[in-house]
Amino acid sequence: MDITSARTTPYWWDAVDTVPGRDGLGGDTDVDVAIIGAGFTGLWCAYHLTRLDPSLRIAVIEKEHVGFGASGRNGGWCHAGYSLGHGQLVSSHGHDAAMAHMRALFASVDEVGEIAEREGIDAEFAKGGVLTVARSDLQMRLASEQVDGAHTFGLIDDDIRLLDGDEARGMLNASGVLGGVWHAHGAALHPAKLVHGLASVVEARGVMIYEGTAARGVGKGVIRTDMGRLSAPMIVVAMEGYRSQLPGEKRRIVPIYSLMVATEPLPDDVWDEIGLADRQMFTDFRNLIIYGQRTGDGRLAFGGRGAPYHWGSAIEPGFDIDDSVHSELVRVLTDLVPQIAPYEATHRWGGPLGVSRDWRPSVTVDHGKGIAWAGGYVGDGVNTAHLAGQTLADLITGTDTERTMLPWVNHRWPTWEPEPLRWIGINAGLALAKAADRTEERTGRHSRKADLGLWMRGQSRGSRRRT
Ligand SMILES: Cc1cc2nc3c(=O)[nH]c(=O)nc-3n(C[C@H](O)[C@H](O)[C@H](O)COP(=O)(O)OP(=O)(O)OC[C@H]3O[C@@H](n4cnc5c(N)ncnc54)[C@H](O)[C@@H]3O)c2cc1C
Repeated sequence: MDITSARTTPYWWDAVDTVPGRDGLGGDTDVDVAIIGAGFTGLWCAYHLTRLDPSLRIAVIEKEHVGFGASGRNGGWCHAGYSLGHGQLVSSHGHDAAMAHMRALFASVDEVGEIAEREGIDAEFAKGGVLTVARSDLQMRLASEQVDGAHTFGLIDDDIRLLDGDEARGMLNASGVLGGVWHAHGAALHPAKLVHGLASVVEARGVMIYEGTAARGVGKGVIRTDMGRLSAPMIVVAMEGYRSQLPGEKRRIVPIYSLMVATEPLPDDVWDEIGLADRQMFTDFRNLIIYGQRTGDGRLAFGGRGAPYHWGSAIEPGFDIDDSVHSELVRVLTDLVPQIAPYEATHRWGGPLGVSRDWRPSVTVDHGKGIAWAGGYVGDGVNTAHLAGQTLADLITGTDTERTMLPWVNHRWPTWEPEPLRWIGINAGLALAKAADRTEERTGRHSRKADLGLWMRGQSRGSRRRT
């Protein structure tokens, strides 16, 4: 599979209009709620605000265009992932709070599908679950530990179950599969269609979206832009990884790049051989995260980490493309699914997602300061941003729900280290994950480098989520 002729824009963008078509902010404006960022967090927040209080005047400002950020570029895994694994929630907040959080994530997956259908958004939503294949004895042991841990926690086979080799290969006929784990609460979707559809829905409900309008700074009750001041008693910062670009925010959240490739549509007989008949999303148990989905039009969209963290929390368009990481993604994909080798990669791209210092997401509303934010989903933001946006709307309108009691509400992040420590630490973690994968592939045995990398971010391998 050759990547040299692949287009360097997200495959998903072929289906939507990515030229800013909406006006920018036309001078000083007053609203009740002002949202920065037209991705999933901002637009779901706007959607649920209009549902809870249709009288609210809401404006969203977006530096580029709707869905320009991670929401329009991701792997389309709408699933119930939690960055550190749910075991961490149990240890810090207790079983009941952790279970409530997990159940809220499960429910959110279904709600995304239901709302899309009700609102007429063709997001190509298919709830086929998440398959994690195990391709070595070590990975089988991890699979078994993951399922045992989840069952001890209170989940049942209908939520998550261990698969033997035949069952796993029946879902995805990848090379060397010995078994795996199937997680029911996950759906594949077309992220750009969802985010653009959502923008149209909220506009029809009276929300103003201003494109080409960058927030330059945020003060109490006011956002400064080059096109006027947007004033509101409540400002929602919905920028995830991009928040690091606002003045004084570089150490609050860091942008980590994830990169993707998409193949041309594969013929039906090739799909008969590969599987993924229910459009299950797939990954495996390696240390450096990978994720794939069979798209609605029969391509493989496949991504992974591995791109370096850039000094000073920088975000630049050039970082979306990395020849060595994209080539490695293709190598990993063809190793997993050799049937695709004769086919072309038509697109390759990447983008930044947001990671907080403690690797935990947060939904925070400070009524006193008139500021709210959500983010830090660490690559699990498609479904989580829906739950976050919904919870922001509950909190902003003072609506008590089960969601407003969840452990991530008002969770305060520690700050990241200053440079050069940040750069050294994050890239060392990445190098350790890569080295551990090489060792484990070669020896078939667990590598201590993996533990060291996970320890650096407060995780253990058994508790870790897989996206
Ligand atoms: C390649 C990739 C693959 C991923 N795959 C998955 C996946 O399969 N499943 C999953 O759950 N998660 C995945 N994620 C993570 C997920 O996409 C994000 O966590 C989620 O979309 C974040 O949504 P958001 O609305 O908070 O932020 P974003 O979608 O990043 O939106 C922030 C918006 O703010 C805008 N902005 C930036 N600066 C300014 C400014 N100064 N003023 C105004 N606007 C500004 C940006 O242009 C952007 O549109 C992936 C991320 C990437 C990059």
